[in-house]
This record gives sequence, structure tokens and C-alpha cells, in this order.
Amino acid sequence: MIIDIHGHYTTAPKALEDWRKRQIDNLSTPELGPKPSELKISDDELRDTIESNQLRLMKQRGSDLTIFSPRASFMAHHIGDFNTSSTWAAICNELCYRVSQLFPDNFIGAAMLPQSPGVDPATSIPELERCIKDYGFVGINLNPDPSGGHWTSPPLSDRHWYPIYEKMVEYDIPAMVHVSTSCNCAFHTTGAHYLNADTTAFMQCLTSDLFTDFPTLRFVIPHGGGAVPYHWGRFRGLAQEMKKPLLKDHLLNNIFFDTCVYHQPGIDLLTKVIPVDNVLFASEMIGAVRGIDPETGHYYDDTKRYIEAAALTDAERQQIFEGNARRVYPRLDAALKAKGL
Ligand SMILES: [Zn+2]
Repeated sequence: MIIDIHGHYTTAPKALEDWRKRQIDNLSTPELGPKPSELKISDDELRDTIESNQLRLMKQRGSDLTIFSPRASFMAHHIGDFNTSSTWAAICNELCYRVSQLFPDNFIGAAMLPQSPGVDPATSIPELERCIKDYGFVGINLNPDPSGGHWTSPPLSDRHWYPIYEKMVEYDIPAMVHVSTSCNCAFHTTGAHYLNADTTAFMQCLTSDLFTDFPTLRFVIPHGGGAVPYHWGRFRGLAQEMKKPLLKDHLLNNIFFDTCVYHQPGIDLLTKVIPVDNVLFASEMIGAVRGIDPETGHYYDDTKRYIEAAALTDAERQQIFEGNARRVYPRLDAALKAKGL
């Protein structure tokens, strides 16, 4: 079985975007709406957007199941206040839940949280619990920078975030550390802000003793870990200077990387530097990079090809494609086992 742990509903019907635009237009007059009930999207519309996009490509490329969350760049936690984010997250999560119900063999949800800059992360817990308990979601996306590129929140190692971590431990769910749109024009959203955040999150964990407080807490750092695998020597050296344990003991029981790296040399480096147990298959399809690589004739985000071509044993490949996802996402494993898979 091939599990893609990183997919977003980037192809949601346009009515969703229109609803969000009205919400943003009325930020200072929320009484003018729109109400969540004014968003009307039929099952047929959901089915069409999935069958003609994500599911079609999954079948073409040969993946079976995608962990599916709301479109990351649309989370835009910096817009409005907690109530704005709360309504928006609930709507987006519900759509992913409906997709998981329409295609139960191919999609299972991960939650967007209703984060808002300067607001206590504990306010996200009701939506987190709703998604895990009512929707059967298997993970969350945690935005370390709800300000959208201005980094006004404390680092992930700060007690500020502990209420979320306590719930993650209680429900045994991992968080993908995932920022959203950059509203800081110095940082391009998917080309800079995403990769910066991946690198930053790793370093915030490295300088702290977060995983001493939460030995079973798990973070998935997407986009291949940003600059982390490439600069592994720098991180090892910095940890040594700081008298931290070896990175494999300090961080690698808790931090995992996905394979959203869009060329063969990148995947070769990732799988050479990072232990196979810490690498989870993902493509983020359909996402930031949608074109065809003229050097290969294949889609950049067809990452399965790179794993297949990497210098790995069949057993290692199976770990990356399936085994690690089942271990890092125990609720996913339980859902599959309940179906006899
Ligand atoms: Zn993503």
C-alpha cells in the first residue's frame, strides 16, 4: 500500500473561495455574513473536483491513500480574528471530512486549526477534538507562524504551545508543521516561507528540550525538511556546541520528514542523510509545483518515481511508502486495520 501523507484540498469548488472572499470583505462587519450555511456545495461537486484531479493522478501514479487537509495557503490565519479563523477552519475541515466519506478508501483527514496571531493556541482545541472524534481525522496541521511571515509567536518549544501538545499526546496524533500564505513580501509563500518555516521549526526543537517534556510528541516537517537534510552537518555541529545529545537521540524519535522534494538528487540526499525510519512518502499533489520537468518529462511532484529510483532496499521503500506512516499516524493504522488492511 502506498500512503501519501501530505495532500491538500487545493481543488475545492470555487464556491468556497467566493465564501471566503465575502468573509474577508466583511471582516469589520461580520454581522453582514456570510453564514457558514450560505456555503452550498453538493456531493456531486466534491466528487467531480476529486475524481478529475487528485484521485485521477493518484491512480495514474500508483498511490492508494492520501492524508488530506484543507488548502494550506488558504488557511491564512493572519486574516481577521479568532472568530474569523474558527468559522473558516470548521468549513474547510468539514469539506475534507466529506471527501473522506465519499472516497473512504482513498482519503482520510488531517485538521486545519483555527489559529490566530496573538491568541492562545488552547482556543484551537475544540476544533481539534471535533476533527479527531467526530471526523476520524488522523493528524493536524500546526502553523508555527499564524502571523503569515512576521513570526510574532513564541518558538514551538515554548509553553505557549503546550495545550496543543497535551492534546496531541492524549489522542496520539502527529502534527505536520505547516505555515500558510506569507503576507510579508520579503518571503514568497511556497518558495521561501514554507521552506524557511520547515528549517526554523527543526532548529526551534534542536535548541530546546521539548521532547524531554513530551517524549511521545511527533512532528512531521514537510517539504523534505526544508534545508535540514542538506545542512545536517551544520545542525549536528550546532547541537554539539550546545552540549545537546546526538541528533538521532535528541530529535529523531520525534521528528519526521516527508518526501515533497521535487527532483531526484534531493530525494537521494534526503534518504542518504536522514534514517529511513524518519522519512514518509508524500507528494503534496496537487500543490505548489504543478508543471512537468523538461529534464525528465515527468511531473515535478510525481515523487514516487524518485523513491523508486533511490538507492534503497525493497524493505526500506516499504517503510517510506507505508510502514512509517502507520507508525507515525497510529489512528491511520487503526483505521486501516479496522478495514482488514
Ligand atoms: Zn502542504
